[in-house]
Order: sequence, then C-alpha cells, then structure tokens
Amino acid sequence: MSTQIPRRVLRLVEPEPVTEGAGVKLRRSIASRALDYVDPFLLLDDFRSHNVADFIAGFPMHPHRGIETVTYLLDGLVRHRDSIGNAGDLTAGDVQWMTAGRGILHEEMPQRHNGVLEGFQLWVNLPAKDKMMRPRYQDVPAARIPEVEHLDGTRVRVVAGQVDGVRGPVTDIIADPLFLDVAIPPHSSFAQAVERGHTALAYVFEGAGTFGVTDDNAGTDIVKTQLAIFDDGDLLEVQTGNEGVRFLLIAGKPLHEPVARYGPFVMNTHEEILQTLKELRAGTFPPA
Ligand code: FE
Repeated sequence: MSTQIPRRVLRLVEPEPVTEGAGVKLRRSIASRALDYVDPFLLLDDFRSHNVADFIAGFPMHPHRGIETVTYLLDGLVRHRDSIGNAGDLTAGDVQWMTAGRGILHEEMPQRHNGVLEGFQLWVNLPAKDKMMRPRYQDVPAARIPEVEHLDGTRVRVVAGQVDGVRGPVTDIIADPLFLDVAIPPHSSFAQAVERGHTALAYVFEGAGTFGVTDDNAGTDIVKTQLAIFDDGDLLEVQTGNEGVRFLLIAGKPLHEPVARYGPFVMNTHEEILQTLKELRAGTFPPA
C-alpha cells in the first residue's frame, strides 16, 4: 500500500472587490493584486449578489483567446450567445465550460430572476500547443451533474474529476481538472484524493472549516470568502466544528509556461498579444 501525503494550506487569499464587464460587482480572488496567477488558474470570480444593480449590466459581447472559462451557477439566470453559434440560458446548478482557443466572441447577460444571481467563473490557462485550437463549448445542465452523499450528510457535486468512483460530466479539458462543490455539515470530516503535482485550491463561500489537517498539523481555519492554496500531496482533508462549510475544490495540472496576459487574452508572449490586438482592429477576430 502506498503512503498518501496530505496537503497543507500554503497560503490564504482574501478576494478584492472588482467592477467588471459593463458594471458587474464581484469578488475576485485570482487575478487580483494579492494573487496574479496560480498555474494553471488565471482568474476566479465570485459574483453572488441579491441586488439586481450589482449584476444586471452583465458582460456584453467581448473576445477571449488562449484560455478556457468555467461558469458555475448556483442560482439566477444568465443568457449567453457566442460567435460559434451557441446560445442559451444557464440556470441554477448549470455549468458552462468554454474553450476560447484561437478566438471567440461572446456575451454573458444575467437576468433579473427574483433579484438573485449566485455563481462563479474560473479561467483555466491553455498550454502553448493548444492556445490556437478550434474554440469549443460544453453546456452541462444541473441534472447531468452527479451528487455524492456521505453518511454524515456531506454532499459533493462532481462537475469535473472523480469522487468515490463517480465521474463528473465535464471532460476533455486540457488541465485535467477537479472541480467540486462540497458542503460539509457541522462536526464532520471530509477527505478527497487530489492528483500529486497538481495545483489545488479551495474557495470557501459559506461557513467555515479547518483545511489541510494532517497527522502533525492541526490545519488552518478558513472562513468565507477566503481562497486557500495547498502545498503538494495527494490527499486533502477538511474538518468542521460548530459550523458547516461549503466550498469549491479546484485542482489542475500546472503548465510551467510563460504567461502574457492582456484582459481577456492570455498568450505566452507579448508579440502574440500584439498580434491579437491587430486582428481585433482589422476586424479579423475571431479567425474563421
Ligand atoms: Fe467572457
């Protein structure tokens, strides 16, 4: 039997308030002053709000190149359409995984929907060899996302990766990601295998818990809305006390490549960014 190495919390990051798109107020914990990049993750936004004014302006038509974006909606309604012919509504529990590759234009417009919008967007970097791939798109309705329930009441929605032999519906993503929505009740514990060598993060958005518990380490207390970055290992353990916790557990394979980013474009070199801006001005973006 091989020995599993538990991961400890390496760093905690507080999100910063950001206004994005046409005026959407959100909390950003990756792509912030405190944390620019956690290879391969380029951005993490939390756009939960119960105030229509925070989100109704939305994200009108805009370009992307060189990345994949994952939008996970807990509540509300986001209407979207893009330059490769997709259009539809994201509703509670749905996931949209979009590979911009060499270029896509899209809009993401939250609707009023009882004044509630709750969700997250993650940007995952593409390696140099895939940055100019054909754009693609996976729309995953809530009903296709399996939920694993443990005896203690812990519930795990498996968007990507595997829990107790249950595989999430989002596949074929270059970073080989784990993307889980984990809810642990009070006075419980949870352990999840995470591939060794992969970057692992937890974004706590409800309650509080103790993360990175090991034999010789009591772990780190994390409260909403903090992001934890873990050291290497192959197991992640979380315990709760009087309060339950809910968090996104995200992991993926790091690229170890140079990053040149300019807004919605993420390439390897400054020249590739200039080339992209040239195409935009010439009206040849996105390439056919
Ligand atoms: Fe976008």
